[in-house]
Amino acid sequence: MNYYALPIADLIEQFSKLPGIGRKTAQRLAFYILEMDKSDSDRLANAIIIAKEKIKLCSICCDLTDDDPCYLCRDEHRDKSMICVVENAKDKIAMERSREYKGQYHILHGVISPMDNIGPGEIKVKELLNRLDDDTVKEVILATNPTVEGEATALYLSKLIKPLGVKVTRIAHGIPVGGDLEFFDEVTLAKAMDNRREM
Ligand SMILES: [Zn+2]
Repeated sequence: MNYYALPIADLIEQFSKLPGIGRKTAQRLAFYILEMDKSDSDRLANAIIIAKEKIKLCSICCDLTDDDPCYLCRDEHRDKSMICVVENAKDKIAMERSREYKGQYHILHGVISPMDNIGPGEIKVKELLNRLDDDTVKEVILATNPTVEGEATALYLSKLIKPLGVKVTRIAHGIPVGGDLEFFDEVTLAKAMDNRREM
């Protein structure tokens, strides 16, 4: 038996599909939205529609952008000889916050995880290799997270990239195994970048 009017049940259902949102939180959000001013709820609904419409992947670094190439790939002051490879856009932002790094990025959009049926073809590996075609890039810094999948992905990438004559380094981890780059403070990230080692 459904206790809610259908549109409310649907709203709850949609919220409960979001990460970290359980049934109770989904209910709370749905009722909160119903009590919002219409102008605010319209703005929220529109923000979702517009973000989905306008945001695409940068054709160079695969970051999320509304402008292709993204601002960072267009920035002439960034060092073109280095690419820092991260799992996702949030990790790139965390790395930028450390203000330590002035090179380019490459966003993989995931890590290799055989358990979840994610192979190299499911993440942006081919796009990374394409960027190493000319001699511009001298170093690739692997900044995947220190998880089992992150380490395996770094190892896989280093085996592919080293034969191309490009230096491959891995960020040092003064950070706990199983951690997530997104949640580290700037100093820890800056240190990790400083102490990166060649793979
Ligand atoms: Zn870009």
